[in-house]
Amino acid sequence: MRELPTAKSAWARRGALAEPAPSWARFDEAHPPRFLCDPSLGGLARWLRAAGYEAFLAPEVPGHRLPDEALRRGLVLLTTEAEVLDRRIVAAGSLVAVWVPSALTMAEQLHMAFLDLGLTLREPRCMACGGTLVPTPMEAVRPRIPPRTALWKDEYFVCAGCEGLFWRGTHWERIEATLRRAVAA
Ligand SMILES: [Zn+2]
Repeated sequence: MRELPTAKSAWARRGALAEPAPSWARFDEAHPPRFLCDPSLGGLARWLRAAGYEAFLAPEVPGHRLPDEALRRGLVLLTTEAEVLDRRIVAAGSLVAVWVPSALTMAEQLHMAFLDLGLTLREPRCMACGGTLVPTPMEAVRPRIPPRTALWKDEYFVCAGCEGLFWRGTHWERIEATLRRAVAA
């Protein structure tokens, strides 16, 4: 695999690396980062949710001030717009922003975010809305379970946000395998 540019090196090259200690060092297990993704990073937002992180997608509004919104909501900004890093608000070090080159594949983007922010895989969230997945008794959701699935699965989860129904089937396993590969790459 080719060497990826990291957000930190990108910052350093652009002369924007803020002192003192980078604020991403403030994240820990109990206070994981939450993300604001620019409108072109919808795929990355979905995969961050699968990796267990809250990731919001910014609306596609011309002139929308992403750094302001991220700072106001306490979110880490993920953006493909390198110019954002030149904004005063970012250079001042008060906002954590990661530049994600749009030329990277989704897996490379995910790997870069994990590497730069020291992320680890957490309990998966709903990829569609980011809601937590709540273990739910099979009887409570039986009418929604495909008959063939009901024959071999007895563990189910309902999204607290959109009420989507989940189980650890082949689709879920493929997602977990992709995440593990992206993180370890
Ligand atoms: Zn959901």
